[in-house]
Amino acid sequence: RQERYRSLRDMASVSCDGVKIDLQMNAGLLVDLPQLDEAGAEGIGLFRTELQFMVASTMPRASDQERLYSAVLDAAGGRPVTFRTLDVGGDKVLPYLNQFPEDNPALGYRALRLALDRPGLMRTQLRALLKAAAGRELRVMFPMVTDVSELHLARDLISREYKHLTRFGHVMPERLKIGAMIEVPGILFQLDEVMQLLDFVSVGSNDLFQFFNAVDRGNARVADRFDDLSPAFLRALKLIVDAGIRHSVPVTLCGEMAGRPLSAMALIGLGFRSISMAPPSIGPVKAAIVEMNVGRVTELVTAYLDGSHPSDAPRRALVDFAKAQ
Ligand code: PEP
Ligand code: MG
Repeated sequence: RQERYRSLRDMASVSCDGVKIDLQMNAGLLVDLPQLDEAGAEGIGLFRTELQFMVASTMPRASDQERLYSAVLDAAGGRPVTFRTLDVGGDKVLPYLNQFPEDNPALGYRALRLALDRPGLMRTQLRALLKAAAGRELRVMFPMVTDVSELHLARDLISREYKHLTRFGHVMPERLKIGAMIEVPGILFQLDEVMQLLDFVSVGSNDLFQFFNAVDRGNARVADRFDDLSPAFLRALKLIVDAGIRHSVPVTLCGEMAGRPLSAMALIGLGFRSISMAPPSIGPVKAAIVEMNVGRVTELVTAYLDGSHPSDAPRRALVDFAKAQ
């Protein structure tokens, strides 16, 4: 199997009926970067910037942040990198940051909420990103957006830093693309407004699934109780794909389901043409894609979006389909 994945590494991820699927990888530290070539990823769909903060014993300085982002862009060698701004709080605790105990940290003071309340932190990070990407493309993505007003505020912060650096004569990124994670169910009902403010979106299916079903993603007793291929969850994902098409905004997905071949198949059937996953998943997912007929998978998945199918019906149908291929 490993041999087969290696032989696929330099092959394009194109289905047997000719549909190209962009396969990117998730990363968070410099040590992850060699995986870009080893796994044959087309870019970094999610760079979790909080990792640098979590492994440090004191707040990383602006210069340390800039150095990391610049090294990541160097290692990517022109392949796209999507940097997610700090997603701390909740289960991601920074010992040197004053965080208060909360009964429900997953629903608490975290990610963009914290960043907008403490703009110093976010502005330092945005400035480090803008400087690191001098002359290159910069893709920045905001986590845990719950209300469209937060996006206005976050965009304002970027504009301020952009203007500030321009005024001081810095070389600016060649292009700036701003995106957001779709991972809070409330945002599903603001998709038209959100899409108008963004250059791309990425579905955080780990959190979207957790909040959609009200099951703690880290609690083994409940985490597997519901199926991420249920018609209900597939419909939620389809809303996002359709909104992206309506507004010509690229939609991708970077949660763990992207790395499971059967789920990846379902996502492609829903219309996703780009997904991002842990590097070891790229081989198995690509192996599934090259044997997949996207037209037929689309028909199959679409049939389960309609009417009242039991929650395990899409998974069963996909398993049968994959076996018959
Ligand atoms: C997600 O929520 O799906 C995601 C990709 O981000 P994280 O796992 O870091 O919350
Ligand atoms: Mg998340």
